[in-house]
Amino acid sequence: MIYHLGLGSNLDDPVRQLARARARIGRGAGEIRKSSSLYLTEPVGLKNQPWFLNQVIEIESSLAPLKLLATLKGIERKMKREPGPRNGPRRIDIDILLAGKTVLRTALLTVPHPRLADRNFVLVPLAEIAARTRPPVLGYTIAALKHTCPDRSRVLRVEFPAADEESVKKRSSRARGGGNRPRPHGRK
Ligand code: AMP
Repeated sequence: MIYHLGLGSNLDDPVRQLARARARIGRGAGEIRKSSSLYLTEPVGLKNQPWFLNQVIEIESSLAPLKLLATLKGIERKMKREPGPRNGPRRIDIDILLAGKTVLRTALLTVPHPRLADRNFVLVPLAEIAARTRPPVLGYTIAALKHTCPDRSRVLRVEFPAADEESVKKRSSRARGGGNRPRPHGRK
């Protein structure tokens, strides 16, 4: 099943935190098929905190939605995300934005993500890799939702040297005992 996940971090070297999260997702949740650029985004809600780094990835996973959620929450725990205020500073946040055409409204999980259409920091990176996707319930393509989104908070595409990503991959590969399993990545 194809999922779109939103990643965000504004603590403890966000570039590295996102790379660590992608590596763990690739090992434990599913194969990463596409990755948006990284975006520096203005905090929404709680203003007095560092800007966030956000990214959206597309994965193919054999896990059912609730199992995927549990796996992603496990990754957040392993990355030592401390509980904090809603919209507050965090080392890593991983959200399920879309689960293909699946619609779910349970106590633990809502997909499409309930705030997807209200947030520039989600729609801009999502539109980069899935502009023509038309999520269920929302009824419009991601490109159209981005166009009409009332959120005016700033979302700036940033580029980091590829070396950064490579060095994180090498470090995590060494930590696993040097295994060099290829992990396909989409566009950076
Ligand atoms: P968060 O603060 O983003 O980690 O989310 C807190 C809780 O939201 C999680 O523990 C989930 O049970 C719930 N939740 C509901 N829908 C979603 C979704 N689409 N993706 C991630 N978490 C969700």
